[in-house]
Amino acid sequence: SEEKSLNFIEEIIENDLNNGKYETLVTRFPPEPNGYLHIGHAKAICLNFGLTQKYGGYTNLRFDDTNPVTEKTEYVNSQQEDIKWLGFNWKNELYASDYFDELYSFAIKLIEKGLAYVDESSADEIAALKGTPTEPGQDSQYRNRSIEENLDIFTRMKNGEFADGAYILRAKIDMASPNMLMRDPIIYRIKHAEHHRTGNKWCIYPMYDFAHGQSDSIENITHSICTLEYVSHRELYDWFIEKLEIFPSKQYEFARLNLTSTVMSKRKLLQLVNENLVNGWDDPRMPTISGLRRRGFTPKSVREFCDRIGIAKRENLIELSLLEFCIREDLNKSANRVMAVLDPIKLVITNYEKGTENLIGENNPEAEDGGGTRIIPFSNELWIEREDFMEVPAKKWFRLAPGTMVRLKFAYIVKCEDFVKDENGNVTEIHCTYIPESKSGNDTSGINVKGTIHWVSAQHAKTAEIRLYDRLFTSETPDAEEGDFKDYLNPESLTVLPSVYIEPALADADLDGRYQFIRKGYFCLDRDSTADKLVFNRTVTLKDTFKK
Ligand code: ATP
Ligand code: MG
Ligand code: MG
Repeated sequence: SEEKSLNFIEEIIENDLNNGKYETLVTRFPPEPNGYLHIGHAKAICLNFGLTQKYGGYTNLRFDDTNPVTEKTEYVNSQQEDIKWLGFNWKNELYASDYFDELYSFAIKLIEKGLAYVDESSADEIAALKGTPTEPGQDSQYRNRSIEENLDIFTRMKNGEFADGAYILRAKIDMASPNMLMRDPIIYRIKHAEHHRTGNKWCIYPMYDFAHGQSDSIENITHSICTLEYVSHRELYDWFIEKLEIFPSKQYEFARLNLTSTVMSKRKLLQLVNENLVNGWDDPRMPTISGLRRRGFTPKSVREFCDRIGIAKRENLIELSLLEFCIREDLNKSANRVMAVLDPIKLVITNYEKGTENLIGENNPEAEDGGGTRIIPFSNELWIEREDFMEVPAKKWFRLAPGTMVRLKFAYIVKCEDFVKDENGNVTEIHCTYIPESKSGNDTSGINVKGTIHWVSAQHAKTAEIRLYDRLFTSETPDAEEGDFKDYLNPESLTVLPSVYIEPALADADLDGRYQFIRKGYFCLDRDSTADKLVFNRTVTLKDTFKK
């Protein structure tokens, strides 16, 4: 493979390792268990785990579970499943909530150093004193409480003596800092809520900024990689580490993944789920990892996508069609070619007197090992696609029309002799003759036809439900539109074909199988399938719309 230039994070790491700043690279992936992971998280996962695969060291999985209200064990489990599915293994499974005792003692240490104080101003008062980016803020009247009094009230906050919101603990930094986050940020709040792991042990919880960097430090994370929204948090990140005199983890920021025609925040995806606008977190239209998996994406294709988009320092917007390009590339090599007729019309071969015969189909001409073959039953009554017949052919029409010939894939050349219409004028049957000497692989007919169509033998066909997907949103940037992002949902994002005809070999399809339905796209079995009813999802169409 071609030599790739280093991204800016790799440059930093190579420098740090070469200069002996660190002996072992330690990264972490720190999801908040408040929803299912999405393709944006996949980018962060590939980056963090990819770095330690490349440079040695290890990556921790740390659940950033400091907000008891939104977090659930269901999400912890799904997030683990998704990371494993992507192909990565973490060294340690950790929880920010495991550090609640330690974080509490860090808070005590700051108070003892005169670097934190308890404030009982209302939220409005605190906001009013905060100032603006161009004007300094003003000190709270509680800023100069004694250390003893701060210790006393903070302990009582912890002991549950006060209601939510009665007091907060703030870092005592600089109310005139040009960085608004340094103007005495809140570091602990009272919240009488049950936590998914610590239960009711705590009624005070640390804020993100007081948990994240310290958790990194506790774990000896060398490079704490996050997205650009956290640039302004870095000063605070460093301040806590310096004042607490703990391991100096360093934060680096990269541009988050933004993808066209979708939204990518757990909060918004949760709305789609809760309001039944999609069928759960793993709905194949969702940009979640579980949705992509159910849609038929492979881990390899998602990793390939993350690799191609690279790591940038500036915000950008990636075309969804690039993700589709990556799965198409993968499936082109790995998916067996099979036949399914989505919009059937009957084709009768009037001179075929053999009854039935078994033909041999090549599974995948693109596969490195040739892909093997399978048996495809043929008979005198077939299903073909309605769109492959035209009563009055258009110019350059190479498929069926009165008097024209086509090849039936893996089978014979047929000639359209006649057709039948019902009382409404709809074509119901096409009558053909076949050329016995034109059998695929053994064609001595000397006839050349330009069109090849797929088909399924009517008496052998199985039926299946097929689900076709389109963009979830009609806008390329639903987040940036006026009004609610949900106003831009695509009403045609899901089309269900309740009963299509598939070749009998597909009755053995399993959830890991990937199939190219010839001329129709790549498909996989859906987990809704039962023994009586197969359901297939279209992963992606065959046509490539990505502009390289
Ligand atoms: P969301 O708003 O979707 O919940 P988040 O950043 O709050 O995103 P976390 O669970 O905190 O979600 O994210 C875990 C890690 O994944 C963080 O390091 C975060 O920076 C990274 N991440 C989240 N979204 C993206 C994205 N779109 N592109 C790249 N990395 C992302
Ligand atoms: Mg977050
Ligand atoms: Mg979030």
